[in-house]
Parts: sequence; C-alpha cells; structure tokens
Amino acid sequence: MKLPIVRYGHPVLRAKGKRVAKVDDHVRALAESMIETMREANGVGLAAQQVGEALQLTVLDVGEAEDQSSTMKLNGAELEAKAAMPLILVNPELTLSAETVVAVEGCLSFPEITAEITRASSIVARAQTLEGERVEIEATGLLARVLQHEVDHLNGILFIDRMSAVTKVAMRSRLKRMQKENAPAR
Ligand SMILES: [Zn+2]
Repeated sequence: MKLPIVRYGHPVLRAKGKRVAKVDDHVRALAESMIETMREANGVGLAAQQVGEALQLTVLDVGEAEDQSSTMKLNGAELEAKAAMPLILVNPELTLSAETVVAVEGCLSFPEITAEITRASSIVARAQTLEGERVEIEATGLLARVLQHEVDHLNGILFIDRMSAVTKVAMRSRLKRMQKENAPAR
C-alpha cells in the first residue's frame, strides 16, 4: 500500500525511532508499504519516520539509481549491490570510515531541496532482516551515503542538520516556509 510521505515540519521526523523488539505482521506490512512508497516516489531510501512511524526500520534500493557507484559486501562476501536490492533493515547501527566524501543529496521529506553533504566514504552496517537474521553490510559509493542518510532519519537527524552553515543560511526562508506548511494543525 502506498503511504503518504511526511514532510519537513512534522514532529515525527525529529523523533528517535523505537527499537523493533519483534518483527510482527505490522512491521512486515509496513516494510512492504515503505518499499512501494519509495519506488513510487523514485527514491533510493525511506525511513519509517517518513511514513509517520518512529521505528528503527528502513528500506533502500539503489539498484535503479543513476549513480551506480555502490559496492557492497554482505557478511564478508562481495556481491553486486543491485542484486541485494531492495534492502530492508531492522535496528541498523553504523560504523563510519574516517575518510569523507562530498556529494549532492536530496530527501523525499524535502521536495525540491538538494544540497552538498559530507558523509563517510565507507560504512559498516549491522542490522537484522525481517526474518530476524543478523547481517553485516560493508558499503561504499551511493549505498554508503544512503545508509547514512536513512540511519540519521531513524535517530531524528535530517540532512539539513549536516549542511554547511552557508547552505543553511541560503535555504533558511524555504525551510521556514516548509516548517510552517507541514506543521500539524492545532
Ligand atoms: Zn531523507
């Protein structure tokens, strides 16, 4: 089921996701709907907060992205990132490389806003699958970037928090307007 995507200004985007203690029917159905929603929006990743649920659950798919820089190891074995998509990760935790890289990023919760963001160039993610299996993913390229962006969402962190001060000043009035437009009515 396609879900509405929450936009900047809604407080759920600032909520830290609760750990998923048990993958039940709700979590499975939610993950499936999130994949459908992400694909419909041509996104490469979506966090549970973006569909209104503060949970440690994210979906990713870099398989059809223009940027095919992703490399990936799953539990130590190299594989084509495209073959592993879509990824559904429960309770993910990241270890970041010291080396960083700058690239332009967008976010489905911030339509029409893009900015250069500095991210670790490679990461190791430890997470669970929907089947409860523990996985370790080593990633570089776009996949490493998307994983960092989504795990930030799960902790209530948004890409605007990682923009340079200059970019933030330049975007200030647009962000203010979005915040006003998307705040829950009271
Ligand atoms: Zn985002």
